[in-house]
Amino acid sequence: MSRHVVIVGAGPAGLAAVEHALRAGARVTVLDQAESPGGQYHRRPPGADAARHGRSDFDRRRRLLAHPRCRWWPGAAVWAFDRVENRLHVLRGQPDGSGRRRLTLVPDALILATGAHDRTLPFPGWELPGVYTAGAAQALAKGERVAIGGRVLVAGAGPFLLPVAESLLDVGAEVVAVLEANPFTTVRKGWSARPWRLAAQAGKAGELGRYAATLARHRVPYRFGRAVIEARGADSVREVVTAGVRADWSIIPGTERTYEVDAVCVGHGFVPQPELAVAAGCVLDGGFVKVDGEQRTTVDGVFAAGEITGIGGAVTSAAEGAVAGRAAAGEKPAPALIRARDRALTFAGRLASAHPIGTAWRSWLREDTIVCRCEETTYGELVRATTDPARPGPHALKLGTRAGLGPCQGRMCGPAVSELCGGTERHHRPIAQPIRLGELAARTEGEPG
Ligand SMILES: Cc1cc2nc3c(=O)[nH]c(=O)nc-3n(C[C@H](O)[C@H](O)[C@H](O)COP(=O)(O)OP(=O)(O)OC[C@H]3O[C@@H](n4cnc5c(N)ncnc54)[C@H](O)[C@@H]3O)c2cc1C
Repeated sequence: MSRHVVIVGAGPAGLAAVEHALRAGARVTVLDQAESPGGQYHRRPPGADAARHGRSDFDRRRRLLAHPRCRWWPGAAVWAFDRVENRLHVLRGQPDGSGRRRLTLVPDALILATGAHDRTLPFPGWELPGVYTAGAAQALAKGERVAIGGRVLVAGAGPFLLPVAESLLDVGAEVVAVLEANPFTTVRKGWSARPWRLAAQAGKAGELGRYAATLARHRVPYRFGRAVIEARGADSVREVVTAGVRADWSIIPGTERTYEVDAVCVGHGFVPQPELAVAAGCVLDGGFVKVDGEQRTTVDGVFAAGEITGIGGAVTSAAEGAVAGRAAAGEKPAPALIRARDRALTFAGRLASAHPIGTAWRSWLREDTIVCRCEETTYGELVRATTDPARPGPHALKLGTRAGLGPCQGRMCGPAVSELCGGTERHHRPIAQPIRLGELAARTEGEPG
């Protein structure tokens, strides 16, 4: 009987893994908590057919979900992995509905392709209603056709700000400006060295041209070296203060400017979602899942692909997924697949060097700026805890300040808290998804036939 490969995540990485595991003769089960495949990159409004970018690959891979050797489980949240029994625990059904089914799967090989979520650095006023992460603003625009506001400022770092601005314009918002915190010189240096090495991502140049044309058509200014340093308003955001920042993101005095807005969306890159890999016992490196040349993690039989292994865009994620799919099915990935993956990884390196996070962002914070929004832990409390002569370890520091212990479990503030507290590794819980007590107590159905 052929190998049973279970793939968690049907984004670009997971779907490429499905295609290549099937080609290598495996039986495949692919699960995603979302109702439709595509992950973050191919997000569409319910019922919409066409994905905008990378459409032909996406359409081909999406059709493979109906392959006779493929079982596709949408609405399936994987909440735990029991490494002793090699058993994946799944809840199937509406996340906010009752009667979710509790199922388990025991794979021959497991591919984790759970992606990343967006990252936002704290600044005074970021807890006000009307301040959104770039990902949330885009999800509402692309997934629900809802604009987060009438007049919106888009700010942060990275090329992701461009599709976000486009999505907002698409749903009728006025985008007052797009601000990239890194100076033009940093961005140009990062992208322009040996440009031929970026050939694997040739489609990106066209995509970039389209965003530039869209911004120009709507007269949206795009500025380098400027950041949002404060949001103001009584009950919701009414204005934002921006400032010119140096290469390390320290504020240039006298460059402050205020924009009247009713929403602001801020994104500073992405944070991986490695909870299941942590549960499986995989070693992380800088928060990302460590993999070898064939996308094997440090745990036998567990592979990882896409943005849980590094932030590199959809093409890189798919190239990694292809290698993982072959290897997990028990086949040696062809050298051409490995080369394509390695070429695609160049993009990830460029992204990191063209859009770094400046270390001086903490100079935007004030004593009373909330860093952990769930527990309302302020910057001042964190500084006092880290400079305490008793020098509590990371665990005691968290218990003492409660940073990262609220409902989001550090998903929002984790990287910021970690950086402000001297680089302590973010603590990942082995429970990857919320589960109700009743569901936990209920009997599991095991694997359906
Ligand atoms: C919010 C957001 C918006 C983005 N928008 C763009 C864009 O417009 N343009 C662009 O070029 N790039 C965009 N990116 C970056 C792009 O999405 C990534 O480069 C690419 O999608 C990564 O592919 P992936 O397969 O690794 O992960 P993803 O596409 O994130 O797919 C991961 C999948 O895993 C599923 N999953 C995660 N955990 C579980 C679990 N426990 N159980 C079941 N399923 C699970 C998720 O539902 C998701 O479908 C965006 C990223 C984010 C986070």
